[in-house]
Amino acid sequence: MTAFDHKQLRQRILDAAGTRSLNERAPALVAQALRNGEGELTAHGAFSVSTGKYTGRSPKDKAIVRDGLTDGQVWWDNTSSMAPEQFDLLLEDALASLDGKPIYVQDLEAGADPRHTFRVSVFTETAWHALFIRNLLIRPDAQGERPADVTIVHAPSFQANPGRHGTRTDTVIALDMSRNIVLIGGTFYAGEIKKSVFSLFNFHAPSQNILPMHCSANLGPDGDTALFFGLSGTGKTTLSNDPDRPLIGDDEHGWTETGIFNLEGGCYAKTVKLSATAEPEIFAATRRFGTVLENLVLDPGTAEPDFDDVSKTENTRAAYPIDFLPKLAPGGLGGTPQTVVFLTADAFGVLPPIARLTPEQAEYHFLSGYTAKVAGTERGVTEPQATFSACFGAPFMSLHPTVYGDMLAERLRESGAATWLLNTGWIGGAYGVGKRIDIASTRALLKAALSGELDKAEMRTDDVFGFAVPISVPGVAKNVLDPRANWADPDAYDAAAANLAEMFQRNFEKFGALSSVGAVHGPRLKAAAE
Ligand code: ATP
Ligand code: MN
Repeated sequence: MTAFDHKQLRQRILDAAGTRSLNERAPALVAQALRNGEGELTAHGAFSVSTGKYTGRSPKDKAIVRDGLTDGQVWWDNTSSMAPEQFDLLLEDALASLDGKPIYVQDLEAGADPRHTFRVSVFTETAWHALFIRNLLIRPDAQGERPADVTIVHAPSFQANPGRHGTRTDTVIALDMSRNIVLIGGTFYAGEIKKSVFSLFNFHAPSQNILPMHCSANLGPDGDTALFFGLSGTGKTTLSNDPDRPLIGDDEHGWTETGIFNLEGGCYAKTVKLSATAEPEIFAATRRFGTVLENLVLDPGTAEPDFDDVSKTENTRAAYPIDFLPKLAPGGLGGTPQTVVFLTADAFGVLPPIARLTPEQAEYHFLSGYTAKVAGTERGVTEPQATFSACFGAPFMSLHPTVYGDMLAERLRESGAATWLLNTGWIGGAYGVGKRIDIASTRALLKAALSGELDKAEMRTDDVFGFAVPISVPGVAKNVLDPRANWADPDAYDAAAANLAEMFQRNFEKFGALSSVGAVHGPRLKAAAE
């Protein structure tokens, strides 16, 4: 990948370390984490930790080094920049902060396709972070002294100094794309480590003709690959776990000329309200030795995790190696996708639970990256908030979204993959009036789409959004498919739909002349359509 000498950096960190843990596995790491008082075991043997102040990512504190390589390529509207000298000073200070401390090293891999594998070495302060990233990335068969392509210096207790380092706060996630060095400081939230690998991949992959994707993926009975794109909480992890479809990967993939590959070797599942019946595979994985549970509250007597307790955060998580799941696609690989699903959790209750997209509509929705967040229930606010995040993952898509959008559009046309918009959000009214569609109904609709059954269904064209919506699906109540009929007040529905369409349009203005797809293939206000 680069000419930078990662070996030398590694040696320097190891020489300065107090003690070294080299590529230890779960039993040794858990034992050490317990000795360090980093967390506790649950009743079923998983390791439970609290991440303190930060229980989610800190996108505003992420910066990319602006240099000759990145200057003309990175989408700077979306990411802060950092001068190379700033990065060097920060790295020096962070490394100095690690001097004399115990250092946990994991030499791992990313990219299940052997043609595109790169080596990632992670240096961290705590045994549990080492276990986390060992669970999430690919554990190589043969461990050894192999030079890394990427070095991640993970120093969560290091505090950046805005005055000295030019950072926004004392938290920093800094990426040097030229040397492939990542520095993380000031946050214990482990998801930052895995998503920084993804950000690096997203920067480099397109130049190798690989489309990087924030999606999960699984395999059908005929070896047909399906992708599930979507922002956080829309159902990538939940819906890709399917007893009939082996999992390819949980969250990050690459699409090459020959098929797709998992970037990772593990899963990072949300566990809020996790149910043994609706999500049996994930539930079982939370009860395994080696799994890391983040920010769950345990019963003080029994050490059972309470998945309904969100007192630390809504964003409770389980991190486990992918082979904790019962059904896996061999090698983390799949063929060229036949089905592409865009997941959205529409809290306005406007979008139908499923709709078929043309390739152009797919490009439009990919660039839009719509979902909605519900307001914090604790304040009793019922007004949902629209989120538009390009490519269903703007915080980690390092290049301009149209780079990825153009690649996806081309691949959809070449492959002829069927593309669906699946609303896992609210039906029968907006948040506060309607309810979230249940997982079983979503799975039934998905199954019909994946089996090809929906291709035969009678469709209507949506007045506002222009996509094709099935009129009936066996086993699904008919009015569920038609949000307008499902609302108590059709006029209120029309107003909500017009409002959402307008938000789509306003958001798309940011692409200006770079994408013309919005003018024809985006939603239109009803009055204008008539
Ligand atoms: P991230 O990118 O943060 O990993 P994700 O897309 O993988 O997010 P999931 O972990 O699958 O999101 O989260 C979906 C959440 O929504 C789960 O907690 C799941 O139980 C809940 N949920 C409720 N109703 C549905 C539904 N109809 N379909 C899918 N998920 C649902
Ligand atoms: Mn997920």
